[in-house]
Amino acid sequence: MTTLLIATRNAHKTEEIHAILGAQFQLLTLKDFPDAPSVVEDAETFVGNALKKADTLANWLADNSKIKTKNLRLDYVLADDSGLEVDALHGAPGVHSARFAALDKTENSPDAENNIKLLRLLKTVPLENRTARFRCVIALVPVPEKKIESASPVCFADEFPTQIFDGACEGVIQLSASGVKGFGYDPLFVPDGYEKSFAELGEDVKNKISHRAKALAKMKQFFNDQDTKAQS
Ligand code: IMP
Repeated sequence: MTTLLIATRNAHKTEEIHAILGAQFQLLTLKDFPDAPSVVEDAETFVGNALKKADTLANWLADNSKIKTKNLRLDYVLADDSGLEVDALHGAPGVHSARFAALDKTENSPDAENNIKLLRLLKTVPLENRTARFRCVIALVPVPEKKIESASPVCFADEFPTQIFDGACEGVIQLSASGVKGFGYDPLFVPDGYEKSFAELGEDVKNKISHRAKALAKMKQFFNDQDTKAQS
């Protein structure tokens, strides 16, 4: 069985990834590695942030000593960077989704404050122009045998055989929040083909059609293709 470290401290994201991936993978999270370095997500793209998180952690785990002492085996680091792009706001909040309402852009802001800010900015925008999408980029990096000495984590990308998987989910930002399930902008986002928000639809629907579900489906296909190659 393949073991993945999910590079997030967001419990909702972890739950979704667990539910979508099912029993085919053994999943660890940063809760299993409390002293793991925290990564400042300051890249201008989802890919840049996902790579930075995955590469920094893979290098920190390199040579497996931190894993062996826990009697664990770890194959890959999986880092998800995701967010909401609103067309009427020229793609904002985008990579700043987690800290949209924060004055100090290095700190995340509470989901409720981000949602209030989004509704305020869209106050005069009619429903037909409130098109948006959730986007998710996953970077999958094998845990290397030895540490790679490099001044910048961004440079690790050349050294690691990294895989990138992405997914998007189109929808609209409704006029007011509804529903209590999920997290982040879920109470405002109505996916195409539905009349309820992700926060009303809940995980059964969300985990089939979401940006994260689509990116993870591509990752599963990658592992299935690897298995097929190994067997032939
Ligand atoms: P990240 O942890 O840097 O990837 O930031 C993701 C941010 O984007 C979250 O804090 C949410 O505000 C937003 N986001 C990403 N995915 C979702 C989702 O599935 N539902 C609602 N909000 C999301």
